[in-house]
Amino acid sequence: METCKVAVLGGGLAGLYTAQALHASGIDVILVEARERLGGRILTADETGTPAGDGFDLGPSWYWPLMQPAMATLVSEFGLASFGQNSEGAVIFERMSREKPQRYLPASTDQQSMRLAGGTAAAVRALAGKLPAERIRLGWKVTAMELAEDGARLTVDTGGD
Ligand SMILES: Cc1cc2nc3c(=O)[nH]c(=O)nc-3n(C[C@H](O)[C@H](O)[C@H](O)COP(=O)(O)OP(=O)(O)OC[C@H]3O[C@@H](n4cnc5c(N)ncnc54)[C@H](O)[C@@H]3O)c2cc1C
Repeated sequence: METCKVAVLGGGLAGLYTAQALHASGIDVILVEARERLGGRILTADETGTPAGDGFDLGPSWYWPLMQPAMATLVSEFGLASFGQNSEGAVIFERMSREKPQRYLPASTDQQSMRLAGGTAAAVRALAGKLPAERIRLGWKVTAMELAEDGARLTVDTGGD
């Protein structure tokens, strides 16, 4: 049995940010992630679909600094390189898999959407880099939680026998 002061469940953006902030405050934290990779819905992958350091965003790709100031703060706090999404000209867009891709002229918006250089996974790497590797548990799926007298107890499926 392992013990810690705080267990953060889920290694997506929310869990990663929380875990590194707790760690930075000197709190004994373990980040528990069911998958064998961090990022959750964030996935930057190469042309074969394998997670890559510089690739295509298959999940979240944009942030809007005015609407998501916390994301803008994270980008500047961690010194991540960002750039404005090009919005000139037409786009080819496949709205649904059963429809053919179609050409659209994007509606103009007041808000500039931003992207992270190298893909959104750059934020995942930056956050994970602030946590000691031994505080991150990949492939640990939490299957139950109970309150005990001495704290909360988690049951995890680690995929083993
Ligand atoms: C295709 C797509 C495109 C998107 N585009 C944008 C965009 O352009 N801009 C934008 O702002 N937002 C976008 N979003 C939304 C954005 O992805 C989410 O708001 C954000 O990633 C959610 O982060 P999260 O950490 O809350 O959750 P998640 O990323 O879902 O992370 C949750 C984590 O918890 C883990 N977990 C779940 N159950 C357990 C368990 N029992 N035990 C252990 N671990 C567990 C999961 O494996 C996962 O890693 C998009 C989403 C999708 C799917």
